[in-house]
Amino acid sequence: MSYDKALNRVLDTVKPHIGEGQVADYIPALAKVPPQRFGFAIYGCDGDISSIGDADVAFSIQSISKAFALAFVMSGRNPADIWRRVWREPSGTPFNSTVQLESDNGVPRNPFINAGALVITDMLVSDHGPGGAIAAILGFMQLISGAQSVSIDKEVAASELATGHKNYGLAHTLKSFGNLENDVDDVMRVYAHQCALTMTASQLAAAGVFLARGGYDPIRKSQVTSNEVVRRVNALMLTCGHYDAAGDFAFRVGLPGKSGVGGGILAIIPDQASLAVWSPGLDQYGNSLVGTLALETFVEVTGTEIL
Ligand code: GLN
Repeated sequence: MSYDKALNRVLDTVKPHIGEGQVADYIPALAKVPPQRFGFAIYGCDGDISSIGDADVAFSIQSISKAFALAFVMSGRNPADIWRRVWREPSGTPFNSTVQLESDNGVPRNPFINAGALVITDMLVSDHGPGGAIAAILGFMQLISGAQSVSIDKEVAASELATGHKNYGLAHTLKSFGNLENDVDDVMRVYAHQCALTMTASQLAAAGVFLARGGYDPIRKSQVTSNEVVRRVNALMLTCGHYDAAGDFAFRVGLPGKSGVGGGILAIIPDQASLAVWSPGLDQYGNSLVGTLALETFVEVTGTEIL
């Protein structure tokens, strides 16, 4: 089935549900996003591109950025240096939970819960400096999406910094266990800006295609990172990309996927395509309700073989 046809089938299925779920409001600037949005874009490994709905409307990618930050950091570091500071196990807890970090002696369960993402951001800050880390991750996203218009929404970043008490708590706990090299404020500032990256579903699908192609970027015809890094980022997306709903997402969709509270989800079909869906209403786990249904419908109607 062609991607266009599959996307039309997906839209037919999700249409009655568009607007369902709760738009994130714990970051006040995100609460302003209209819930009726829905966009879905596909970037095929063979260059076949297709999209439907609001695929060219920019949204806050939030925690989807954690998958890209991890790939970026892994590309420049010795693996042992990363994996002594963060584990690779599903946490079974909400993305911003503070519960395990203390009893686990300041070592987060995985790089996609906020505690683990803060450790990865700390590595970004160590590698590029407090002044250069935001520009480095923004530059990486512009490069791999092939879109200079990818930007950071300063209002969303400021809004998160003004209200992000739990994340400050996590960062201070990491620091107290010696698992943060840089100042809490510097790490938090870079983390909030990274989460405030603003992209369209079409740009996000393009940015993710290297994860479907063993690290090769067909847009610029060059290797972004190694196959080994991609294999590991995809494994973590499958097992930890949806927090305490990771098992349910794997059961329903079966693809490596990373969600964000802006309502976006990036999903990868290895050797086939990168998929990006956006619908702002979230389920109780903070994952896009209609976005998940859209991906589940996509794999069903296309008969995508997984794993
Ligand atoms: N910036 C958000 C936070 O730290 C990201 C959470 C998410 O998208 N799940 O709370």
